[in-house]
Amino acid sequence: MTRTLRIHVDHDRCVGNAMCTTFAPDVFTLNDERQSEARNPAGSTVERVLEAAENCPMSAITVEDAETGERLFPGSPPVAEIAGAGRR
Ligand code: SF4
Repeated sequence: MTRTLRIHVDHDRCVGNAMCTTFAPDVFTLNDERQSEARNPAGSTVERVLEAAENCPMSAITVEDAETGERLFPGSPPVAEIAGAGRR
């Protein structure tokens, strides 16, 4: 079964370098202000969308499963990061 995605691009972060449109050109489009918009969340595979999100230098892209609300990206920080967070 294919997942339906909800994709959000934070325009306070997006710098319009078009990395996401390179990874998933059928999903992301730059608008007239050179801000990325996920106009077609179903335009590519989940893997390509996640790859685009992972490669955004500004961490501007959030991806969720539209039906369950599960956050697919960004995920939780690695356990080591959590464990080290309280250390001096
Ligand atoms: S990769 Fe990130 S910063 Fe670049 S256009 Fe896409 S959302 Fe904006």
